[in-house]
Amino acid sequence: MRLRNIRGSREVIAGSDYVIHEEETRAGSWHQIFGNTHPIHIEIGMGKGKFIMALAKANPQINYVGIEKYSSVLIRALEKMSQEKVPLTNLYFIRMDAEQIVKVFAKGEVDKIYLNFSDPWPKDRHAKRRLTSREYLARYQKILSDKGDVEFKTDNRLLFDFSVESVREAGWELRALTYDLHQDAVLNQGNIMTEYEERFSALGNPIHKLIASYEKK
Ligand code: SAM
Repeated sequence: MRLRNIRGSREVIAGSDYVIHEEETRAGSWHQIFGNTHPIHIEIGMGKGKFIMALAKANPQINYVGIEKYSSVLIRALEKMSQEKVPLTNLYFIRMDAEQIVKVFAKGEVDKIYLNFSDPWPKDRHAKRRLTSREYLARYQKILSDKGDVEFKTDNRLLFDFSVESVREAGWELRALTYDLHQDAVLNQGNIMTEYEERFSALGNPIHKLIASYEKK
């Protein structure tokens, strides 16, 4: 089945209470949307939403926004949300291309960005589309708070090496790095596995992780 073609997913998303629509969002309005001043953490490319839903359940004092490009994938997260016995009031979803992220969040509005198993875009000419490219880091720099950071996990060594390089070239600080997260007693503490992480670690692939923040001069 090609997930991109699930019939009716756009209509379901349009009527969902769990979704904030890109055209309705106003950068700087997220605390108003959540109705509190709690920190805002986002996941870009959240897929079916297992990771961000687990985080939202575990951390009611943090607001979460899950971003996914495709309706046919987002609809799976909506199905999971509707099965929750107690509705999660600290999590919303947006269906959008993260390229437009600076239109949706204001300067300093976001305290953490999670990127998990982002698409590798292996061709050099598509490098700018990788969610850890310098182009994306420049966007993240605009929306992250002073103490904000990016946490990135993948099993793809080429994408990980590219990401480490981008972080350094962009003048960000690499605060933590491991090539085998599940064997790293410190970084693996409290780790929540994503759908892809479960799948690839079951195949024996080591999971790489970095945490980076922009070095304020
Ligand atoms: N993060 C999930 C996980 O670890 O299980 C899903 C990983 S999947 C390989 C990558 C997801 O990112 C896909 O659902 C894809 O549609 C989404 N994605 C890719 N590029 C995106 C973009 N520019 N904006 C928003 N979502 C994007």
